[in-house]
Amino acid sequence: MSNGTVQGTVMGALRCGACGGVNRVEMGKVGAKCGRCQAALTGAPAEVDDDQLERLIATSPVPVLVDFWAPWCGPCRAVAPHLASLAGAQAGRLIVVKVNTDVHQRVAGRLNVRSIPTLAVWRDGELRVAEAGARMGPALQAFIEPHLR
Ligand SMILES: [Zn+2]
Repeated sequence: MSNGTVQGTVMGALRCGACGGVNRVEMGKVGAKCGRCQAALTGAPAEVDDDQLERLIATSPVPVLVDFWAPWCGPCRAVAPHLASLAGAQAGRLIVVKVNTDVHQRVAGRLNVRSIPTLAVWRDGELRVAEAGARMGPALQAFIEPHLR
């Protein structure tokens, strides 16, 4: 409980879906607004491009779960609501974003993503895991659990 704990207050982070800014937030505090653009911070998975993803990975104080997906991919659509629910349940402790590999291929190419969905986790700027396959419910929880603080 040393990292991220300030005088008994557990600090987390939420990415603003409107401007992309990463906000340090007090865990459990509801109704937080983005310090940059004042948009409400929901923690819902947002679409990002390669530049935004690289910046997020480099600067996020919490683990980042990335869903490499494409609109034509059925299993990807099946996973989407499970990712949204995970993002809501872990808001502040985990940032969840989506990369459409039809449009944004730089990071996916570097990871050698050959099939989608591929889920990848970065923590402290380092890639922890990247695995293809549709994970839902408890399987998704088990996938992310070792990477949460
Ligand atoms: Zn914002």
